[in-house]
Amino acid sequence: MVIIGGGPAGHSCASTAARLGADVVVIERDTIGGAAHLWDCIPSKAMIATGNARQFLRRSARMGLAEVGSDVDLDQLRDRLKHIESRLETTVRGLLDSQRVELVDGFGRMVDARTVVATLPDGTERTFHADVVVLSTGSRPRIPEWAPADGERVLSTRDAYPPSVMPEHVIVIGSGVTGVEFVHMFESMGAQVTLVVSRQQVLPQKDPEVAAALEEDFLRRGVKLFKGARAESIVREGNEVIVSCDDGRIARGSHALLAIGSVPNSDGLCLDDVGVQTDHGYVPVNNHMQSNIPHIYAAGDLSGRLPLSSVATMQGRKIAEHAMGLTARGNGRQIDYDKAASAIFTEPEIADVGLAEIDAFAEGRKVRVTKVPFATHAKALINDDPRGFVKIISDPATGVILGGSIVGRHAAELISVLAVAATNGLTVTDIHESMLVHPTLAEALTEAAE
Ligand SMILES: Cc1cc2nc3c(=O)[nH]c(=O)nc-3n(C[C@H](O)[C@H](O)[C@H](O)COP(=O)(O)OP(=O)(O)OC[C@H]3O[C@@H](n4cnc5c(N)ncnc54)[C@H](O)[C@@H]3O)c2cc1C
Repeated sequence: MVIIGGGPAGHSCASTAARLGADVVVIERDTIGGAAHLWDCIPSKAMIATGNARQFLRRSARMGLAEVGSDVDLDQLRDRLKHIESRLETTVRGLLDSQRVELVDGFGRMVDARTVVATLPDGTERTFHADVVVLSTGSRPRIPEWAPADGERVLSTRDAYPPSVMPEHVIVIGSGVTGVEFVHMFESMGAQVTLVVSRQQVLPQKDPEVAAALEEDFLRRGVKLFKGARAESIVREGNEVIVSCDDGRIARGSHALLAIGSVPNSDGLCLDDVGVQTDHGYVPVNNHMQSNIPHIYAAGDLSGRLPLSSVATMQGRKIAEHAMGLTARGNGRQIDYDKAASAIFTEPEIADVGLAEIDAFAEGRKVRVTKVPFATHAKALINDDPRGFVKIISDPATGVILGGSIVGRHAAELISVLAVAATNGLTVTDIHESMLVHPTLAEALTEAAE
C-alpha cells in the first residue's frame, strides 16, 4: 500500500493496514501528522487554550483569588506550539516506525495506476509499485484573488500561530466554524475583533438557537459584527488594513484574517493522466472510499466529505480494513457521516451530533426535543460559568437518540456521550439509567434524557 499524505487520514490508514499485515509506504512532503498537527486542529486549539487561560485569570477575583497578570508572551506561545507539534509528530512517527511502515520524505505523484513516484528533497526520485494507492493529501486555505495575503497583516489561518506582532484589531472574514474560532482566539488574547458575516447569522449552517448563543457572547465581549456584508477588497496602508464590503461598509484594523474555506491539494498528483476522476480538485469516492479506479482510494479532506480530522482518521482506518479484505468478511460498518460529532472551540463551546432540530422540522419529521440549561447546575455554578444548555433530539415513539447539541463549557467533551448514543442506537432511557459522576456538567444529559 502506498499512501500519499501523512495527515490523520494517511497515518491512521498506514497504522491499521500495517497491523493487518500490509507492506506500507507513506510519502509526506512536510510533517507526519499533516496540516492537522501543523496548521489546523492542534495549533488553533492550543492558541485557544492560551486565550481561555488568560480569560480565566481575568476572572480570578470572582474565583476568590488575588488578581494575576495575564499578558501574552508571543515567544513563549510560539515555543509552546512548537513543543506540542513536535511531541505529536514524535508519537505518530514512533508508532509507524514500530509497525515497520516506511516513511518517505518527499512529494508524491502517480505515473500510472499502480506506480507512485516520490521526489525527494535532494531532487532525486524513488519509484514504488502499489497494489493499493491511498490519496490523502488534504486541503489548504482558499485565498481569493482580491485578498493580498502577505503573512504579515493580511493572514491566512496558517499565518496566525501566532502572528509576528499581536494584533490590536483583527478583521476576521468568514463566519463559519474556523472564522468564529479565530474571533474567540484573538478576542480572548486581548485584540479588538470585527467579524464580517456574509449572511444574517454567524455559523449559517448551525441551529439558529446555538448560533444566537454565540452571537450574544460575541456582542457582550465587544466583537463588532458586519452582518449581511461580503468582503470584496483588502488594502494595506502602512500598518493599517482596510477591508471594503459589497454593501459599502468599511472595516479598518491592524490585521485581516481570511477564513473563507479551503481548496483540495490535488495539483501535482497527476490524477488526470492516470484516469482518476476529480470534481473541482476533490476525488469523489464510494462508501468504501474507492475512487472510480477501485484500488485507488481517497480519504480525508481530499475526498470532499466532511472536512474533519476525526472523519479523516475513520476513513483511513476503513480503507485499510476494506483493502485488506476485512469488510468482505462482514466485519465492520460503513461510515455514517451524519453521526460524526463536531465542535466549535469558542467560549462557550458549541458541539453537536446527528439530526439537528432545524433539519427535523424542515423535513417534517416528528421528533422529541428536550432542553436543559446549565444555569441551575451545581457544576456550572462551581465553574462560575452558567452559560449554555444541553439539547437532546429523540424519536418520540422509540426513545432512540437521533442527535443533540450542547452549548457550554466542555461541550466538545460532553457531546461524546450523545455521539456514542446516536452511533449505537441507544435510547434516552439508556442515558437516564446511567449513573454519572456528581457534580458534573454531564448530569444535564441525564436530566434531559429523563
Ligand atoms: C484552522 C483549522 C482548524 C481545524 N480544526 C479542527 C478541529 O479542531 N477538529 C477537526 O476534527 N478538524 C479540524 N480541522 C479540519 C482538519 O484539519 C482536516 O479535516 C484534517 O486535517 C484533514 O486530514 P487529512 O489527512 O485529509 O489532511 P491533512 O491534515 O491536510 O494532511 C495531508 C498531508 O498531505 C501532505 N501532502 C499533500 N500533498 C502531498 C504530496 N503530493 N506528496 C506528499 N505529501 C503531500 C501534506 O503535507 C499534509 O501533511 C481544522 C481545519 C482548519 C483549517
